[in-house]
Amino acid sequence: MGVLGKKLRGGDGGSVFFDCPGCGWRHRVTVGDGPGPRWGYNGNPDAPTFTPSVLVTYDGPDAD
Ligand SMILES: [Zn+2]
Repeated sequence: MGVLGKKLRGGDGGSVFFDCPGCGWRHRVTVGDGPGPRWGYNGNPDAPTFTPSVLVTYDGPDAD
């Protein structure tokens, strides 16, 4: 995973990862064009905003 900014690291296939300030686990969201669900992203890896909001209903980190 490469460091994109203060808050995000990048993965494969448009995945980005952030350490969640709510639960402390690492979450993955997919942004940009591609298969599967995609979030809107403001393009700022230091202060990212995703739309719609990210709702996580399980415990534990997302895989790389
Ligand atoms: Zn969380």
